[in-house]
Amino acid sequence: MSISQTVNITCPSCGTKQDVRLYDAINVKTDPELKDALMQNMLNRIQCSGCDLNFRVDKPLMYNDPKLGLLIHWVPETEEMGREEILDEFEESLERMNAQMPADQKAPRVRLVLSRVELVELIFMLEKGLNQRVVEYVKYSIFTRNPEKADPKTHRLLLNVEDSTDEEFCFVLQDVASQELGQILRYGRGAYDSMMELYEENSAEFTEMFPGPLISARELLLEDEALGQ
Ligand SMILES: [Zn+2]
Repeated sequence: MSISQTVNITCPSCGTKQDVRLYDAINVKTDPELKDALMQNMLNRIQCSGCDLNFRVDKPLMYNDPKLGLLIHWVPETEEMGREEILDEFEESLERMNAQMPADQKAPRVRLVLSRVELVELIFMLEKGLNQRVVEYVKYSIFTRNPEKADPKTHRLLLNVEDSTDEEFCFVLQDVASQELGQILRYGRGAYDSMMELYEENSAEFTEMFPGPLISARELLLEDEALGQ
């Protein structure tokens, strides 16, 4: 089941107020059209009745794919709510959820993302059966080996699953401020496969590097930088 509510929204351009339906959670098994809307950047999008402005309202969204057993919480990072606050709040809600679970049951795993592009990237990645921690490890090595091209402070590195092949992964740099996509970086699939072997031998090392719920090479690098490492 998907969950939505009616919210009174003010147009950022002309100030017209209107009631719109916004989604808090989507179940892509029962409502596959909502997944299409999300992928096409049409979910929680509004057309202003006053000035025709088309804009997206970013709010926390739970993505649920029961077939793949996938729960991803997208909590938009904003000026008022930075990643630290988001992580703290996420921890607290996980604790509340765990406290409510019967003693013999574990709360389901929930992954966290901070932007829509990362949500879409992660859905493609997991649907292809790729390992998120290993992909982020690959990104980590791209970031650290190409500091002049890929700066985590200003750029995201996104895996483009659709343009990747059996031989190569195709990554694209995104400017965080302008959202514009830029340079494409290719990475041999063989290196991912050998990394996967390492993962299967000793996954603890990867889990230690990316404990979750936010599994992100960029966040890890920004955190290290903030700590002065
Ligand atoms: Zn308007």
